[in-house]
Amino acid sequence: MKECDSLQEQVDVLVVGSGAAGLTAALVASIEGLDVLVVEKSAHAGGTTATSGGSLWVPGAAAVLDATPDVDSQRARSYLQHEFGTWVRPDLLDAFLEASPLAIDYLSRNSEVKFAYAVNPDYHAEAPFGSATGHAITAVPFDGRLLGEDFARLKPPRRVFMVLGGMMVGRREIPILVRPFASPRAFLRTLGIVGRHARDRLRYPRGTRLLIGNALVARYLYSLRRRHVRIAYETPLVDLCRQHGRVVGAYVDRAGQRVLIKARRGVVLAAGGIAHSQTLRTTLMPEHPHQYSMADEGDTGDGVNAALKIGAAVDRSVSNPAYWSPASIWRKRNGEEILWIHGHMDRGKPGLLAVDASGRRFVNEADSYHDFVLAMFRNGGGGRAIPAHLICDHRFLRKYGFGLVRPLISRISPFVRDGYVTRARTIESLADRLGVDRTALRDTIATYNNDARTGVDSLFGRGSRALNRFNGDPDVRPNPCMHPVDRPPYYAITVWPCTIGTTIGLATDKDSRVLDDAGVPIDGLYACGNDVSSMMRGFYPGPGATLGPAVVFAYRAARHLASDAARPIAPSD
Ligand SMILES: Cc1cc2nc3c(=O)[nH]c(=O)nc-3n(C[C@H](O)[C@H](O)[C@H](O)COP(=O)(O)OP(=O)(O)OC[C@H]3O[C@@H](n4cnc5c(N)ncnc54)[C@H](O)[C@@H]3O)c2cc1C
Repeated sequence: MKECDSLQEQVDVLVVGSGAAGLTAALVASIEGLDVLVVEKSAHAGGTTATSGGSLWVPGAAAVLDATPDVDSQRARSYLQHEFGTWVRPDLLDAFLEASPLAIDYLSRNSEVKFAYAVNPDYHAEAPFGSATGHAITAVPFDGRLLGEDFARLKPPRRVFMVLGGMMVGRREIPILVRPFASPRAFLRTLGIVGRHARDRLRYPRGTRLLIGNALVARYLYSLRRRHVRIAYETPLVDLCRQHGRVVGAYVDRAGQRVLIKARRGVVLAAGGIAHSQTLRTTLMPEHPHQYSMADEGDTGDGVNAALKIGAAVDRSVSNPAYWSPASIWRKRNGEEILWIHGHMDRGKPGLLAVDASGRRFVNEADSYHDFVLAMFRNGGGGRAIPAHLICDHRFLRKYGFGLVRPLISRISPFVRDGYVTRARTIESLADRLGVDRTALRDTIATYNNDARTGVDSLFGRGSRALNRFNGDPDVRPNPCMHPVDRPPYYAITVWPCTIGTTIGLATDKDSRVLDDAGVPIDGLYACGNDVSSMMRGFYPGPGATLGPAVVFAYRAARHLASDAARPIAPSD
């Protein structure tokens, strides 16, 4: 047990981490009338959330129901039960479904954290009770100028996800910006977006038209500022402080000084999980060895470690320990390394295929990023599909872009020179350069091309799923997800498994209270976001499957903290 004596500050609730989970807990606790402090390790707010797609999978949220009244929480429950099978944790599933609409409605009514629905299919829409219109919402775009000095604190998106020196571009804006002269409407829209950005750049280091994950965090920051909730930057959690069985605060590092912050109601761990902790990865993810993560570099397992030290338990009953995407890495001549995840922008388009070391396809390439990597692991016995190779032809690369090579505009030779892209005039020489069997690759592409012409993927059913078609190209027929690969030169990019977050972490109950080895809640200690084992149990049923539960269980934690149940029996100060 720690000596909790060097009191520096006292609040009702101490929140550790400023991603979606931490900021939701902080905002809801504050709205409930509690005095809240957020401590954040880095100099910026937002963690992985700020650089994410910002989608939340939240069945029953009003925005979803209004747009798709037939897609209700009951259907979502059946869909999830089918997805999870025996991995389901009924208490967490019930808690999630009950609180999803409540949490989103609460945030929308009581703060500027507001969302909109847009069609985005479940990743297995064809499964029983799956939905082709989905359950996902995204933060409404936000004007970063409203943040004032907090704008500099908002973690920017990754540079490679922006254009023109810091401009964010929405999914539906890409086709317009790539072809601004396609119609008068496209031209005016382009003029509006680029003009606004040009004006921004006179005053700000990047564009202030904030979208997706950056808009989400901006909305939290704006709402927290209005409520005078403080965020202490560069103030990492070091240890929890437990007295008489109850967590009564935490030690943080403030400018090199270890100081104690007491929390009358409790501490919420939301430090983003273990993606960048080699030790915890080795212990908790032994069957999924991997090198790369797109999670925030601060997500080093600090919350999990601090809780383990005071007797918390890990919930190991997840089907797989991470959320995955295939990723490529551009190692530039100047030593810079840029990691790129192949979400759907290229993988989902017609005319790309993926092969393993034998030169054969092993997956429906247009399935979700998560399913793609699980197929790499499954097929990867002996390292066959790790790494794998994405292959396309010149027409594809120019039209849709390929990894970090942007459509239309990018010069290809620097990518080839640095070995990021492999280029060859013939399929056979491409095979030689990749070190895969020539005949196998030639046969694979011949079959793919033939299937593209008939419109039926004879091996993996590419184009038969709602998600495939959603990300395909409606102008390509008969299958919007397949096009012959026959226009040389040919290109390949090598991809590896990369985490975008982790799914294994602390054991918690339905109100996000951290459990000990006996399954008993540790008084005063809560955890949410990727610090906990996901309610989704390692499955990825649809877009927003990590941020949805992060927000919903943070909401539950804060509501519990505000209830009488969280009141200490005797004052802890
Ligand atoms: C490119 C990309 C796109 C994605 N898109 C989506 C999407 O659209 N929908 C979806 O559901 N998921 C998405 N994800 C995954 C999702 O972003 C993460 O799962 C989610 O943001 C995790 O939220 P969090 O609050 O748990 O952690 P984070 O957002 O990572 O925040 C954790 C914070 O805790 C801080 N911290 C760490 N240690 C300490 C400490 N000792 N003391 C104080 N602070 C600490 C970190 O610095 C960080 O700021 C995406 C991920 C990536 C990489």
